[in-house]
Amino acid sequence: MKIALKGHGQLLIISLLITLTTSSWLSTASAEIISEASAGYVTVEDQNALRVLTPSLADRETAKIRLDNGLEAYLISDPSADKSAAALSVNVGSWSDPVDAPGLAHFCEHMLFLGTKKYPNESEYHRFVSEHGGLANAYTTNDHTSYMFAINNDALIEALDRFSNFFKEPLFNPSGVDRELQAIEGEFATHLDKDVTRKIQVYKQLANPMHPYSRFTIGNLKSLEGVSQDTLKDWYYEHYSSDIMHLVVYSPLPIERLTALVTKGFGGIVKRNRQPLHVDTPVRSEASKNSIVYIAPIKDTRTLSLTWELGAPYNRRLDTKPSDLTAFVLGHEGSESLLAQLKRENLAEGLAAGGYELSDTSLLFGIDVQLTEPGIRKIDTVIERCFQAISRIQQEGIPEYIFAEEQKMDTLRYQYQERTDAFSTVSDHARSMLYEPLETYPQFSLVSEKFDPQLVSAFINELTPDSCDVAVIAPPKFTKLNLNKTEPWLGTAYSVVPIADNRLATWKAAQSHIDIRLPAPNPYVPTSLALVDAPSPAPASDGIIVKPTAVIDDPDYGLVYFATDDRYKVPEVHWMLTLRTPAIHRDEAKELVLTDIYVRAVAEELNNLSYNALLAGLHFEIARIDEQISITVSGYSENAKQLLDQIFKTLKTVHPTKEQFNTYKRSIKRSYANFDKESPISLGAELLKTVVHKDFVAARLKAKAAGAIQYGDFIAFANEVLQKAYLEAMLYGNMTDADAKELWDSYRTTIASRGYARDRHQTPKVVVLPKDKGPYYLERKTSQNGNAVILALQNGPYSFISRAAQQTLGTVINEPFFSELRTKQQTGYIVYSTTQEIEKQIFSFFAAQSATHSNRDLLSRFEQFIEEFLEEMDTDPQGLERFNTVKSALTTELAQPPRNQETMAGILATLAFKHDGDFDFLSKRIQGFQQLTYERYLELAEEFLGKQNQQRLAIFVKGKMPESTVLDYRRIKSADQLKSVSTYATAKENTEPQ
Ligand SMILES: [Zn+2]
Repeated sequence: MKIALKGHGQLLIISLLITLTTSSWLSTASAEIISEASAGYVTVEDQNALRVLTPSLADRETAKIRLDNGLEAYLISDPSADKSAAALSVNVGSWSDPVDAPGLAHFCEHMLFLGTKKYPNESEYHRFVSEHGGLANAYTTNDHTSYMFAINNDALIEALDRFSNFFKEPLFNPSGVDRELQAIEGEFATHLDKDVTRKIQVYKQLANPMHPYSRFTIGNLKSLEGVSQDTLKDWYYEHYSSDIMHLVVYSPLPIERLTALVTKGFGGIVKRNRQPLHVDTPVRSEASKNSIVYIAPIKDTRTLSLTWELGAPYNRRLDTKPSDLTAFVLGHEGSESLLAQLKRENLAEGLAAGGYELSDTSLLFGIDVQLTEPGIRKIDTVIERCFQAISRIQQEGIPEYIFAEEQKMDTLRYQYQERTDAFSTVSDHARSMLYEPLETYPQFSLVSEKFDPQLVSAFINELTPDSCDVAVIAPPKFTKLNLNKTEPWLGTAYSVVPIADNRLATWKAAQSHIDIRLPAPNPYVPTSLALVDAPSPAPASDGIIVKPTAVIDDPDYGLVYFATDDRYKVPEVHWMLTLRTPAIHRDEAKELVLTDIYVRAVAEELNNLSYNALLAGLHFEIARIDEQISITVSGYSENAKQLLDQIFKTLKTVHPTKEQFNTYKRSIKRSYANFDKESPISLGAELLKTVVHKDFVAARLKAKAAGAIQYGDFIAFANEVLQKAYLEAMLYGNMTDADAKELWDSYRTTIASRGYARDRHQTPKVVVLPKDKGPYYLERKTSQNGNAVILALQNGPYSFISRAAQQTLGTVINEPFFSELRTKQQTGYIVYSTTQEIEKQIFSFFAAQSATHSNRDLLSRFEQFIEEFLEEMDTDPQGLERFNTVKSALTTELAQPPRNQETMAGILATLAFKHDGDFDFLSKRIQGFQQLTYERYLELAEEFLGKQNQQRLAIFVKGKMPESTVLDYRRIKSADQLKSVSTYATAKENTEPQ
């Protein structure tokens, strides 16, 4: 199930993310390293007419400033922010790569992390962020490069100083340049098997060669060969200029303070009078005109893409958004939509429509259809239906009520917004700020100003067969084509096949289809946003969270908790429900797949209704998790109960046709079979799960089980699955206890005629590795590129102190492991360590995916790193300080009240059902940290990671490796065999002529 995408960026853009896995949190006493600033800026008048109405955000203030060097900053002061964060976008990206060094902008992005004049140590930034509860990342796109971090509130000032120096004097240290190029190569290698990148790379190959879109932008050893410190410096100093930089800072500090910090920290960035790149040429080339591009994917996927390129007057129209309105109608999923018709004809499973503003002169608008097998064979019909849907809009125009609904929902979303996590808050602003004047930002990025039916009609008239680029991404066995071309960077096979005139003529003549019509007014648009009048729930755990009430506690039928939200005060609910039934066992592949099909059928049947609800800010999701059926409903409270009632009814009555069943079954089977084409590290994680969990069923077995399931099996299962059931629910939000009881009554009347007693539920079991027989390794192969190793160390049963010690250690070791294995040794692009509690056993994990090193070699390096780390730990003069910093950061994190309703509901559900209703669990965890001494920490570190701990299991995934880069020893059976492959020479022969 897909929704209409507003701006389907994923179709056309490559976001190049560096992966830094920082799994913990933070805090330390921070020295004031930035003194109060002087002038150097002007305040920009705020002309955003939208207002936030959420009472819990009433204290939030914003300010807009423009520094003397032209840098624009958007400052958000939120006294209740749970973290602080900053992001900076510079309006230059891969399209400004030198022609002879594709990927240089991306390479430059990597290098900024690796030392500045003020902070020369290449691991300094990552270590600081990681030890203070933070997270950092960056990405490069065609027209901008963004850097962002989030961190504990008390570490913001120091982090901001480190961050601001990226944009002043980065070192581009030559040894770092050589090593980090390997990271780029490693990142490139992870794209070799990614269908999204492979498709885009084919599009680039076919694009207008005069447009920078046509170039390769990731970079690799070959494209960046010969790039030196000087190349990088020259490019950086030519392109990185303060007047094309946009900064966002989010923090509890007052506005005056943030203004001073920003002026002082970023006022010194040099202004080089740069403008955003302007490209005055179309992206589309004649090469793909009136033809279909066939592309072979790695996975078994089937997509039809129709794409148009439009320019003025349709591009960057924040005021009227013609592209969004058109996408709204074409991507709709209601019963009279294009998608619904394609489903009725069994041609498609999903559809997305949207526009992507590629540059200031070019808007790409597209429809992506996920095809069924019959859909691939009847591609002409699918395309005809798309043009029939377009014809309907041409004929009737888009009615004003659609615009009004969209405008209202967009406005409500802003007015009743909740606190979002700091990292995504700044990342989102730093991107969208680039395209709207700071004065009005973010008003027009979010909400259209006026309805312009003429412009919308003109826009739709541009969507003709003649100007459309058609691509089909499907396995060649279906298209029966010999794909005769190869894309040079990623090796993707493709073909360009001209479209015969008669086919084009049919599409051009397409008339409105009787069953494809414009969406009717949406009945779910909320009319009442009042808050209920109900008593506040009691607080738990020193006030961090609330204590919900168990309104139902019945050992046979269910356990239902409820609490009225009195903290966030938004007219929303967050409900999390879980159904257990004796018909589903966590270790039975067939039952799991039957449940997958069942859940899919329920979601499909509800789609007409749930899609309207979704558009109106009420979200519903149903999924199988292990042996449970999980249902979440979240969003505006007004119609939530009505939606959940409907879900209950459908669970009981769902009855797909045989054809629908086959479509769902094949789709599920395919997605399980496709798992084999995941990255080596994902395959390793799955193999590890099959060992760690007693009853885990691997994707391969589920794919096999799916093949054997018949329609009759499914109908029998669907009739029986909820005959007996047990419900667990956490109901939180704008509601009363009477609402909670009504939901329970509705559930009991509709669903469970008989109960499923608590004491009969299946209990998950976790592995306990032998203490004196290990360590072990387990290997699997893959046809994908790269090797992966995951080392798991069992750290014993859970206690509050041991978990505190393990998490502290995990945080301290995080950056050194990354820095050693990736930055220094360059074993791979994906490198991380983490810790986890599974069924009250605790584990530490170390992982890497490599395009250059053998698995044995990687494992030896992990072990050597751990050994040296433990040795140095005892004598490290900064060890105690680091321990205290991290311990305090982790405690601060735990004591932080949840940031919004959704987070609160999630924590409450975990405590209710995973920790047996222990709502004081967080306080106990905090005590665990408080009781942990440095001595005990050192002892436990040795117990957890030392060589005497034989409860270690390494997972090896062995994939394809390029011969040119890998250093891998081959086993040879005997000395004689070696003699036969070698040659022998005398001393004389070995002497070089003088
Ligand atoms: Zn990267």
